[in-house]
Amino acid sequence: MILDENFLTVIASASAFMIGAEIEGAAVMIFFRIGDMFEDAAVQKTRKSISELVEMQPVSVRVVRDGKEIDVGPEDVAVGEYYIVLPGERIPIDGTVMSGYSSLDTKAITGESMPRDVAPGESALSGCINMTGALTVRADRAYSDSAVARILELVEESGARKAKTEKFITAFAKYYTPSVVVAAIAVATVPTLIFGLPYEAWVYRALVFLVVSCPCALVLSVPLTFFCGVGRASKSGILINGGDVMDRLALTDTVVVDKTGTVTKGTFEFSGIHPHGVTEDHLLEYAAKSEYRSDHPISAAIIDRYGREIDPGEIGKSVNLAGKGIRTEVNGRIVHAGNSKLMEDIGVEPCGVHGGATCIHVAIDGTYSGHISISDEPKEDSAEAIRELKDLGVKNVVMLTGDNMTSAGRVAEIVGIDAFRSDLLPEDKLEILEGYLTVREGKGSLVYVGDGINDAPSIARADVGVAMGNIGSDSAVEAADVVIMNDSLRRLPEAIRISRRTRGIAYQNIMLSLGFKFAALALATLGLAGMWFAIFADVGVAAIAIINGTRAYGKLF
Ligand code: ADP
Ligand code: MG
Repeated sequence: MILDENFLTVIASASAFMIGAEIEGAAVMIFFRIGDMFEDAAVQKTRKSISELVEMQPVSVRVVRDGKEIDVGPEDVAVGEYYIVLPGERIPIDGTVMSGYSSLDTKAITGESMPRDVAPGESALSGCINMTGALTVRADRAYSDSAVARILELVEESGARKAKTEKFITAFAKYYTPSVVVAAIAVATVPTLIFGLPYEAWVYRALVFLVVSCPCALVLSVPLTFFCGVGRASKSGILINGGDVMDRLALTDTVVVDKTGTVTKGTFEFSGIHPHGVTEDHLLEYAAKSEYRSDHPISAAIIDRYGREIDPGEIGKSVNLAGKGIRTEVNGRIVHAGNSKLMEDIGVEPCGVHGGATCIHVAIDGTYSGHISISDEPKEDSAEAIRELKDLGVKNVVMLTGDNMTSAGRVAEIVGIDAFRSDLLPEDKLEILEGYLTVREGKGSLVYVGDGINDAPSIARADVGVAMGNIGSDSAVEAADVVIMNDSLRRLPEAIRISRRTRGIAYQNIMLSLGFKFAALALATLGLAGMWFAIFADVGVAAIAIINGTRAYGKLF
């Protein structure tokens, strides 16, 4: 674009020289340079303090290859390789601790200030600082899919996905500059040519008009505001994928949540193992083996309870039946494990069912073999999160689950959710979501929060899809607009508050800049404002708007 603010500056000072106002002409140039430098410094400083927060990019990783430790670039570490992290170093790649005990400072990633103790078998998220002991970690993801890389990418690209507010400004600038130039030419010529007024005075007014008109304050401060807002959220372990997501989050009026893993911990208590025609051990063994290839929280609980090593050689083909259960070949036998819907599908009648909790029925070669009763507890802060959402004026909070009515009702009551739907398949969840999306009057946004196990399509479909980043599946994180790193539902109201605040500040900046510009343009046309006023007004408003914008990050200066 030729007709940008630099162009306005150049013609303003060039014409100042032409009418003999050399000092003013030079001053325009000098002060614009100073203003520019000041703005650059402010933007740089903001970017720097935000990227310090994500300055966790690993330079090299100490991997163990053929029994030797060698340093390689993070991109060269393959999934499944073991690497070593010494105390004081950051975990470079998401993985599982294989040996060693330590305490991890997870603040940079989850916003949680309490250190987390890790032992073999537990996950270690990249970006966390290893505080006390050396750890051997197995890489579970490639570097580019790890938390650190994702955060870096987000902050760097936060400018790319522009908020509506930002787009408005781009569109505005397209018409604004040419209009200003035309208006300035009119101010310089019309009074002289038509009314015969003295041309020096009017050319001078036109110049002041041009100087005043520079839209720097607007063009710089609004994107900066959103940038700071995204940075602020990531400080709390909330990854927001750009300014447009913030715009939509700020308008949240309906929140739909998944139960297992989102409202509840996803770690189950066992309330009973009820074999039918087989021994208890036999039932548990087949249940555990059938769950071997599943990534559902239920499978982890059952395998954990079984507690013995499972030989992958025994496990044949395994099919996940979303919302129902799983079908697996174990030692050549067909094992179905899942809810009553699954039993119905395969024509097996459950017997002697103990009601209440979630029942995982097991059928071996089409014969009912009993069920395992499990129940999951709500996360400690889920109830608080629901209360905060209501305080923020969110009208509907709805829980959708594939689990049964009884256990869904119990969880809903404990956490204070008024509406819930149970026994849903993933496609039912999507259909209900579509329903909400179409009947909504008003302009509010619908937020869906899930762990992505059986509900990634809903995450993708909602106005704002939120995924639990830690227990959540990769497909969920991929589909999501917002990722909550520490899996706490309370981060959602916090994200809404940050978005509203950021959006509010962006609006203040638009009002401030435009209001000031139009007032100054009027004064310039009337001859009530001189060049000095114009220069200071422009630099001053830009400075105020930029400083105001950095408030979206919280304390910065
Ligand atoms: P939610 O909507 O609560 O996250 P899902 O849709 O993931 O639940 O699962 C719904 C129900 O399907 C579970 O409550 C369980 O009864 C059954 N189910 C799903 N996956 C499995 C599995 N791997 N093993 C056993 N049962 C399963
Ligand atoms: Mg789920």
